[in-house]
Amino acid sequence: MPMKPICVTCKLFYRPSRNGVWFLEGMPSGAGWAPYKLWHGDEWSCRGCGSTIIVGVAPQPFSEHFEPDFKRKVELRLEQIWSNPIFKSMTEQ
Ligand SMILES: [Zn+2]
Repeated sequence: MPMKPICVTCKLFYRPSRNGVWFLEGMPSGAGWAPYKLWHGDEWSCRGCGSTIIVGVAPQPFSEHFEPDFKRKVELRLEQIWSNPIFKSMTEQ
């Protein structure tokens, strides 16, 4: 098993805080960004400063934008998805 991530500021190991976090990777689209790949990982946090990171991500995305059921897969997990606030909701497209 790889070494646990370390918070440089606090000099503490990160600890698992939430398993099964969905997140969207974006790609440039026009003047903004569009959903690109749907990923799944685990959230870890630092008990010193409270910063959070996502680790334990599979080598391949769960779904990609060109797949016919990409939008449905995202919508099913929309309330659980962590994404950059610049993304518009998938349902607005
Ligand atoms: Zn810290």
